[in-house]
Amino acid sequence: MEFEFIADRPVLDFLPTLGERGHTDDEKLNAPSDLADWAVQSGIVDRPPRVDEAGLQRAKDLREAMFRLIRALIDGTAVDRADREMVNAAGAQPLPALRLEADGVHRAGDTDAILALLARDCLELHDSADREALRWCDDEHCTRPFIDRSRGQRRRWCGMRGCGDRAKAAAYRQRQRAIRAPSGASVRWG
Ligand SMILES: [Zn+2]
Repeated sequence: MEFEFIADRPVLDFLPTLGERGHTDDEKLNAPSDLADWAVQSGIVDRPPRVDEAGLQRAKDLREAMFRLIRALIDGTAVDRADREMVNAAGAQPLPALRLEADGVHRAGDTDAILALLARDCLELHDSADREALRWCDDEHCTRPFIDRSRGQRRRWCGMRGCGDRAKAAAYRQRQRAIRAPSGASVRWG
């Protein structure tokens, strides 16, 4: 499976592996190999780690705990102590190892090392300038937080592909409908 990496922080790219929480609940990590693929595509490790069902479940549990922490950051609500503890514990594990070889830097790590990196990114987000720029995507069903680095901070969508495109297409359809509407019938000038 091809995953999308548009958020500029690993944790924010990992959260949308469950899409539209509470609506379609679009799960993209259906098999252990999906998590291994995600880890390689993210650049966290070079080679797919061996992931078992238990590792996949740990990843999903951590993902949802991190989602709730980041949701609380954006909404300014209280966090659950159990979620905090889960992310703290995952973040305390050893990170992927980096090795400089003749052909460049190599990254290697198992499932827990990958989760450690994600948990630490989540923790660092709490203590970074990005924290103030965290936003929800404006799409009605999208549950993808993003960091608004635009000037004026008026960015509305998690990405211009996907949510941004859908919004533009919907606005276009609405304009077309307005143009087609028979004059006088639906347009009143007061
Ligand atoms: Zn979105």
